[in-house]
Amino acid sequence: MSRSGLPASIDRAGSSPPRLAMLGGTFDPVHLGHLRSAVELREALDLDCVHMVPAAMPPLRGEPSVSAADRLALLRLGIGDTPGLVADPRELERDGPSYTADTLASLRRELGAEARLIMALGHDAFLRLADWHEPERLFALAHVVVVDRPDHQAALPEKLVELLEGREVEERAALMARPAGQLLRLRLPSRMAISATEVRRRLSAGRSVRYLLPEAVEAHLLSRGLYRRG
Ligand code: ATP
Repeated sequence: MSRSGLPASIDRAGSSPPRLAMLGGTFDPVHLGHLRSAVELREALDLDCVHMVPAAMPPLRGEPSVSAADRLALLRLGIGDTPGLVADPRELERDGPSYTADTLASLRRELGAEARLIMALGHDAFLRLADWHEPERLFALAHVVVVDRPDHQAALPEKLVELLEGREVEERAALMARPAGQLLRLRLPSRMAISATEVRRRLSAGRSVRYLLPEAVEAHLLSRGLYRRG
């Protein structure tokens, strides 16, 4: 916490409300697609910070292949000293499934009712949003910002279209006019077709992952033998 009572990632004396995005994920492992998106998201929306939040037990997918502690360690190495990016362990410190609505509620408690709180996610994750736990509550707590991914282009399911009705705005200014409740789709400049699935596949086959991950992440996981077959 900073002196103002806000999270330490928000360090300013300004009178405008704090602006924070959470980017949740398995980060199994973190790669440059995640990190570059987080940096560009912060710049595009002029945010104080982006909290990258690894899920302990993602409710809608299988068990991650390495421990939560290892995924968090890799995320910390990947972020390094990047300004405005934060590895936020709050879901690993909670028992039970990692529901994003609970994470947003805990951020909202820290930031106050006027803060602009954003849940950011890639298009692939967005397609399943209507199946998440308490999808309406997500919008009560935060805006949703969808980041385009070059390898994921599918159309929206009907249930999702209903959930989004009347929420979509076209510009940052409209999003920042309210604390929560709206949807913005963003095409960031450096769209990268990198996925953790491909990184894991390459590692288990003993192939190179150079330039798909930060070098510190690559060095750590190779030295620990993470994601290697057998
Ligand atoms: P996997 O291949 O194991 O499903 P992933 O690479 O999609 O993993 P996640 O940890 O599931 O990574 O993703 C966390 C969040 O980051 C999700 O919202 C996802 O859509 C987004 N994301 C992942 N990769 C990219 C990318 N290359 N560009 C933009 N967003 C991404």
